[in-house]
Amino acid sequence: MYCQFIQPVALYGSAAYMSLSRKTNREKMDQVAAAGARIITGCPAGTRTRVVMAEANIRSISSLAEEQGAILRERVIRLPDSVPARQTVTRKMRKRLVNRQTWREEATKIAKEALLEETEREAMSLPPRPPWLSMGKGRISFHTESGDTTSRHDPPERRRAAAERVLEALPPTDSTYYTDGSTEKGFGVGGGGVVRIEQGRGNATWSVPAGKWSSSYRAEQVAFLAAVRDAAGAPKEVKTTRLCTDSLSLVTFLKQGTRGPAPETLTEIWTGLNHLSRRKVNVQIVWIPGHADIAGNEQADQAANTGRTLPQETAKIDLPSAKVAIRGVCWKKWSGTYHTTVPPEHTHRRATDGRCLKYESEWARRDQVLLHQLRANRCPLLQATLARWNRPDTDGLCPECGVPEDTEHVVCECPKYQAARSALLGHTPTLTVLQEDPDAVLRFFRRTGLLPEAR
Ligand SMILES: [Zn+2]
Repeated sequence: MYCQFIQPVALYGSAAYMSLSRKTNREKMDQVAAAGARIITGCPAGTRTRVVMAEANIRSISSLAEEQGAILRERVIRLPDSVPARQTVTRKMRKRLVNRQTWREEATKIAKEALLEETEREAMSLPPRPPWLSMGKGRISFHTESGDTTSRHDPPERRRAAAERVLEALPPTDSTYYTDGSTEKGFGVGGGGVVRIEQGRGNATWSVPAGKWSSSYRAEQVAFLAAVRDAAGAPKEVKTTRLCTDSLSLVTFLKQGTRGPAPETLTEIWTGLNHLSRRKVNVQIVWIPGHADIAGNEQADQAANTGRTLPQETAKIDLPSAKVAIRGVCWKKWSGTYHTTVPPEHTHRRATDGRCLKYESEWARRDQVLLHQLRANRCPLLQATLARWNRPDTDGLCPECGVPEDTEHVVCECPKYQAARSALLGHTPTLTVLQEDPDAVLRFFRRTGLLPEAR
């Protein structure tokens, strides 16, 4: 409910207003988020706000707004100079409120931290005429049929056979390209690889850099563009060209076009393809499944890995990759606030170090709530919590041991529950069991009778 309805309302337009609003108003917004987090987790009022936020796994409105501001700036700064919004972002203005940061300043600071300011950005533009509409006139064809007969869960032999059937059914070509992109763990230093198989100029394999911050999709685009550029320089004898990629999203996007501004790389791919079709070259754009032992694709994959080792300075950073970098910085800043506000000796920090609870599907709502409350050390089953609430019938101490009965005492220490503990949590568990094996903690609470069986 909170994430679907409340958070979006608070964030609407937040990039513009949040940095200008007073600190107290920001805090009011964040209190709404904290109230949402308390409802999500069932943690009682009086639980440390940052702990509840971590348990609910939501970020404060101001942290999210900061991120949105930085992304907005990133989006606008790539537009052509003639767009008024772009002028607003880049112009120097005298500040009217000296003691407040403008969203520009805040956003620029984040971009600096994400190391975006030192890289050339890829421009976005609205092409005068959508190139994908004028594309081809029957000369450019798209083929994604291998996807109809296989899924990516099929073994490589099956996917390879499906791809070969598709390729064999197509008219023969004078030149064939295989392109592939590669990035470190899905986002990071990227590279592209191209394999060309051609009678005229002979076969060739080469690599291109995709930038220091590149998504795998971006790396695929860069590789594909390298192939299109090369195809544009082919001798006149080449009348049919086949471009094979294992990125289905790229083929789909090239075919459909876009309603908004398009990044340079894609515009250049479209322009290149149009150029080829004007030269009366027939172009087949084919999707083939990746990692299916197709020789050309495997070779392109190797070349893409090499592309990652090339100097990356010449590669521009595209908007989606910049967004990932910004989210990374903002997320790191937000998780940093956990360590500055929750002291090291706090139960929650020792149990979870700020990580959230991984839900298991068979848990009932009250199981989830119990775990959240235990991790926060604010649970009505604990005498220490009841004493904190000034309940008249408790002193907050364990009746057996005479020490405060908190999460740690019940889960890890109290001799009363040692039999159940040894059986379910290990002989001498630490608080981290609440993070590593929450399900065992639930069983422990049932076994000890502390949590009555559900009716
Ligand atoms: Zn005890």
